[in-house]
Amino acid sequence: MAAIIQRIALAQEDELSVSHVFWFFLAAKPEELDGGLPLHDLPIEQPPIGAFCIMDFTLSPEHQEFADSVARFARDKLAPGALERAHSSHYPWDTARLLSEQGLLGITFPEEDGGQGGTLMHAVLAIQQVALHCPKSADIVQAGNFGPIRTFVEYASPEQKKRFLPDLLAGQKLISLGMTEPDAGSAVTELKTSATEDGDHYIINGSKVFSTHSPEAELFLVYVRFGPGVGGIGSVLIEKGTPGFEVGKPSSFMNGEQWSQLYFENCRIPRENVLLGRAVSRSRSRASTWSVWATRRARWRWVAMRSTMRASMRSPASSLGANCVNSRACNGSLPRCG
Ligand SMILES: Cc1cc2nc3c(=O)[nH]c(=O)nc-3n(C[C@H](O)[C@H](O)[C@H](O)COP(=O)(O)OP(=O)(O)OC[C@H]3O[C@@H](n4cnc5c(N)ncnc54)[C@H](O)[C@@H]3O)c2cc1C
Repeated sequence: MAAIIQRIALAQEDELSVSHVFWFFLAAKPEELDGGLPLHDLPIEQPPIGAFCIMDFTLSPEHQEFADSVARFARDKLAPGALERAHSSHYPWDTARLLSEQGLLGITFPEEDGGQGGTLMHAVLAIQQVALHCPKSADIVQAGNFGPIRTFVEYASPEQKKRFLPDLLAGQKLISLGMTEPDAGSAVTELKTSATEDGDHYIINGSKVFSTHSPEAELFLVYVRFGPGVGGIGSVLIEKGTPGFEVGKPSSFMNGEQWSQLYFENCRIPRENVLLGRAVSRSRSRASTWSVWATRRARWRWVAMRSTMRASMRSPASSLGANCVNSRACNGSLPRCG
């Protein structure tokens, strides 16, 4: 149907209008979707965000090539042992390192950050193809591309990235998200975990529940309250072992992934660990580079909290061919997959 509509629109060489197309809400600019939509061929210059567009679910040849390559790797290297992995409560670190070597962690992240420079579509295809052979390994690919690591890459400073990202992308460490609280689940704006300024530090008090992978994570992206209201919410990075921070007894979600309650009791973290600071006016902000930097990003906190997927769609729309099949990931690793 999409192809027919496209042909009609092209034949008419007309402006795209609602009467030509199935209506579909487009959440990102078409070039950011890496060919997932046929809009490039339509006689429209720049469809606005929210335009009504055609959706074509056919994979491009390069997407198909990438999917096939990942599928071969998953069949040969991950299918053996899949059952054992599924029944183990432990995070399979050896598999995480293998997936990292294959370029399947950080697929959408910029190459300068140590990622593959791919797109959302590549990451989704990788998860899909790995899941067909080993669901537990697909969880690793998911954790290495979406959720807190995605937010971290989007908002961390160069120094924070340098400190934490290499180990995360090498499959040697995990980052866990501390957002939900015992009394603030869906109503996340009710979160109470506090961050109180103390010189060049913040003192964290409160608790979190349901943080996926928290029993084995080394780094925690924790949403905190710097002050009242939505504008008072921000996030900090807390490392395992920081005095005043305790990870509780592990529990399992129905999918087998583990979580623990997180407890913060006068947990002191340096200002450098603020990811998204409180929204204060420039005149009130401190002279510290970190404070200014964090304040500048504060207005994006809501996007970061609720729209990891949308953040993914803003990733560079470099082509798969340039990054995952023909060059870095594939020349370097994926061809070895099969
Ligand atoms: C597999 C899994 C992994 C997770 N991983 C993480 C993680 O890594 N980090 C993290 O911080 N959290 C995580 N969570 C927690 C998840 O974000 C919360 O479960 C979610 O925010 C809902 O909160 P809640 O469970 O307290 O439900 P509640 O907020 O208590 O909601 C219960 C029910 O009430 C409904 N409801 C709530 N408010 C209203 C309202 N105003 N009007 C109508 N209906 C309403 C909800 O839709 C829901 O059906 C995870 C959860 C799951 C299941």
